[in-house]
Amino acid sequence: MPTTRRPLLTALAALPFMTGEGQAMTPGNETALIAVDVQNDFIPGGSLAVADGAAVVPVINRLAPRFANVVLTQDWHTADHLSFASQHPGMKPFETVSMPYGPQVLWPDHCVMGTEGAALHRDLSVPHAQLVIRKGYNRAVDSYSAFLEADRSTRTGLDGYLNSRGIRHVFIAGLATDFCVAWTALDARRLGFEATVIEDACRAIDLGGSLARAWAEMEAAGVRRVQSSAIG
Ligand SMILES: [Zn+2]
Repeated sequence: MPTTRRPLLTALAALPFMTGEGQAMTPGNETALIAVDVQNDFIPGGSLAVADGAAVVPVINRLAPRFANVVLTQDWHTADHLSFASQHPGMKPFETVSMPYGPQVLWPDHCVMGTEGAALHRDLSVPHAQLVIRKGYNRAVDSYSAFLEADRSTRTGLDGYLNSRGIRHVFIAGLATDFCVAWTALDARRLGFEATVIEDACRAIDLGGSLARAWAEMEAAGVRRVQSSAIG
């Protein structure tokens, strides 16, 4: 049926991008971009800088207008937060302690609520973002994930927000790939959402092989991995 060829090809060409399986993932009303922790303390010059962290800012600025729905997150700790090495005499940053909810990596003091270090990076330009989720504000519980705190039971409310808005698929960008981005993506899957991590819109800490482990866990959980050039 030669007459059907051109409309089909035209329709395919109009798709913004295809996944490896050939399935279209056009950002629509059922999708949201989650920009994770693009905060001064995670950018070089900050107290817990992710190498090349500032590089995510222009990528997110370019991507965000393609999404009708955008959520931002901020790590948001008390000054005496128990994820800080400074609260554990004799311990140093990047060592691990046992907390009631499991092992906890200790960090330099970072993202103390209300400080300049906790502020979103000044060059981040996402004026149409509709929700800012702050996480990690309970002194005794860390929260890498935008959905569930590290006790794995306290919810931030993000899943309820997304569900009530009819959002089924989250695209995730930001800092850091192997901690807050990965935990957010894994929890999105656990809570029944489709999840796609935009790899070049993220940067990693990579502590003792954590980046490779994070990608392996995400792939096993059905998290998709794309590049920003494939969107829109
Ligand atoms: Zn933190």
